[in-house]
Amino acid sequence: MSVACRIVTALKRETGPCNECPEEIVKGTVYSTVVVRLGRTKGGKQIWRSVKVHLDRCLASWVIVDYTRFSTRKKEKGGRPEGTGMQLSDPDKMERRHLTRTRARLMRLLLETDDVDRIKTLVGRITSTSERITALGGVLNLNLMRRSPEAREAIAAKLKIGGSHAW
Ligand SMILES: [Zn+2]
Repeated sequence: MSVACRIVTALKRETGPCNECPEEIVKGTVYSTVVVRLGRTKGGKQIWRSVKVHLDRCLASWVIVDYTRFSTRKKEKGGRPEGTGMQLSDPDKMERRHLTRTRARLMRLLLETDDVDRIKTLVGRITSTSERITALGGVLNLNLMRRSPEAREAIAAKLKIGGSHAW
C-alpha cells in the first residue's frame, strides 16, 4: 500500500525541535513540515498529523520510517481468532449447522405440544440429532441459545417425560 503525505517547505521562523533527530531546526533554515492524513473520525472529520523535520538530512529517513510503520501494520480481522473454534471441514460445518437447525425446530415443536406420545417421539429425535451434532465437532454450546428461563424449564420438563435428561 502506498502512503501519501504532503510536504510543505518553508523558512523556519522560530528555532524548534526536529521529529527525526535530536538536533533543533534553527531559525532561518529551510525545513519541511510533513502532513499525513490518518483517516477520519466517526463523525467524518479528517485526522491529520504533522511533523517538522530537517529538509536536508531528516526528511527522507522520516518518510521511510513512516512508510515501514504503515505498510507493516496489519489490519485486525473480525471473527474468531485463527486456530480457535471448531476445526471442521466445510461440508461438516454445513452438516452441523443443518443438524443444529433441525434440533432447534424439534425443540420448538416440543414446546408446542402436550401430547405425551408426541413428546416421546420428539425427544427421541432430539436425542439422536444431538448425538450427531456431538459427533460433528462436540457438544453444542448451550450459552449460545437464546431461550427464556420459562422455555428452558418447559423443555426440561418435557425432555424428562420423553426419558432424556441429557439435553
Ligand atoms: Zn532533524
